[in-house]
Amino acid sequence: MPTLADATERLQSLFGFAGFRGRQEDVIQRVLDGGSTLAVMPTGAGKSLTYQLPATMFEGTCVVVSPLIALMHDQLRSATANGIRAATLTSADEDRAQTIERFRAGELDLLYVAPERASQSHFRELLNTARVALFAIDEAHCVSEWGHDFRPDYRLLRPLLDSFPDIPRLALTATADEHTRADILTQLGIPEEGLIVAGFDRPNIRYVSTHRDNPAKQIAQLMATEQGPGIVYAPTRKRVEKLAEQLASATGRPVRPYHAGLDPAERARNQADFVASEDMVIVATIAFGMGIDKPDVRFVAHAGLPKSIEAYYQETGRAGRDGDPARAVLLWGAGDFATARQRLSEVDDRRREEERKRLDALATLVETPTCRRAVLLRHFGESPPANCGNCDNCLEAPGVTDASQLAQKLLSAVYRTGQSYGLGHLVKVLTGAADERVQQRGHDTLGVFGIVDPEEARLLQPLSRALQARGALVSNEHGGLQLGGDAREILRGEQLVEIVIPPKRERRGKRNSSPNPVGDPLFDALRALRRELADEAGVPPYVVFHDATLREIAASRPSSLEEMGAISGIGARKLDAYGAAFLKAVQNN
Ligand code: ADP
Ligand code: ZN
Repeated sequence: MPTLADATERLQSLFGFAGFRGRQEDVIQRVLDGGSTLAVMPTGAGKSLTYQLPATMFEGTCVVVSPLIALMHDQLRSATANGIRAATLTSADEDRAQTIERFRAGELDLLYVAPERASQSHFRELLNTARVALFAIDEAHCVSEWGHDFRPDYRLLRPLLDSFPDIPRLALTATADEHTRADILTQLGIPEEGLIVAGFDRPNIRYVSTHRDNPAKQIAQLMATEQGPGIVYAPTRKRVEKLAEQLASATGRPVRPYHAGLDPAERARNQADFVASEDMVIVATIAFGMGIDKPDVRFVAHAGLPKSIEAYYQETGRAGRDGDPARAVLLWGAGDFATARQRLSEVDDRRREEERKRLDALATLVETPTCRRAVLLRHFGESPPANCGNCDNCLEAPGVTDASQLAQKLLSAVYRTGQSYGLGHLVKVLTGAADERVQQRGHDTLGVFGIVDPEEARLLQPLSRALQARGALVSNEHGGLQLGGDAREILRGEQLVEIVIPPKRERRGKRNSSPNPVGDPLFDALRALRRELADEAGVPPYVVFHDATLREIAASRPSSLEEMGAISGIGARKLDAYGAAFLKAVQNN
């Protein structure tokens, strides 16, 4: 039986890593002991290593069930680059006969298959002709209807697993609330004590949320700070197209659209080019991202409101898997909430309360003057510290003001004018600016006419946004504002309304927030060499080495292959393949 000590040894020789991260060790220990496990670990925690490593130690093959071909091929590339014997068995592979032969001959550490294939009876027969050491079920939340990517074929895996009762199962997911976790355990036949949950925190991601006034300009500014690859989510195809064009012309960077309406060949090309690129930005509908394990995404920006906190966490989780600093920027508008709250009336009664909670949670996230990471982590049931030091609110505490009285004035004006006017008209009434329309309607005779002084008037915009976000103001289809939610309590003075005062000037980031050295000729030479080797091998640059590994080479200037091999991320196989070339680059620069 292989031991944890063997595994630690192999972690160094195979992957070039000095130690396990987070709960990896616990998961691997269970797998080595032959127990079945559900590992819930955030993106970038290193889930794949927890089955790849044992797979190389067991006799026989680890069968990996994975929901997407793109994901499998990505994993295949990385595993192969580390010298792990792996293959995929999908409709897109022409070498299927050869793969089956290798599998039967015991020459594979990993065999990747989709659930559609895995659940068929002839696949079970195939397994009977080979030696299986472990079942790994990736993206295991797909098995649950409670999860957000339910895939019926995952439900058909249980008979397959049960026909090999002695082979341990390892289910992996990054997103599963308590309900979903329990469901996965039941559906895949994993005992309760097999649940291992790592913390949700992604400390290297900086969370920022701000009011959206000019998304193209705001994201172009972000791109000036973050030179690396990025993903921008926009709600509709039309906005995706437009934003991609605007960003390309404003920044001169490669920017591509991605949405379901594109020609499939073009979509596939955009995705492949993005994965291989070191500076491309992709503007996409939410359809983009699940099949992508690109570790060097430096930012994820939302140009519109995400569907839920869960969706937001998963989408932003695509940033910074490599552990280097990354940014998640959420641009929101009062209109996003108005539309979403309008839709509430269309969903059936049973789901409405749930949907409302979903929106309230998002409103809290965007409106909070406190730590955003804490809001996110509390949502997932954790008890984080009050300040993270790496979100906009922790870095620069926003001003907060008690706007309860002003809120009462605004809500009264909405009520007195008949709940059918937009903010522009209401501001005129409240500040006593009697234009023709105000006079015609007789609104200059109302008690609320002119009760807000110019100093306070400045706050009416952000206040209206805040009230719309929390649902106390709801806009109708013509843009007229109506009372909703807790408006009555606010009017009666039973509810406090605190709002965040918008900063006077735009907060500006440094031009380059990356930890990579700027203008270091050695680092630049190493990067160029990586690009060259990657192109030669037909893989993305990060498959050769991550930036962190290049930085360590540049900083420590190894003078022998032995010294090179001690650097994190350089295992035996990569040392063999690239060590000499990088050593030469160090000598020459
Ligand atoms: P996940 O599937 O959980 O999102 P991955 O398996 O893609 O995460 O791993 C994320 C990154 O972390 C990979 O680039 C991987 O090489 C790296 N990694 C994994 N385990 C370790 C470790 N023990 N030490 C250093 N880096 C690690
Ligand atoms: Zn914070």
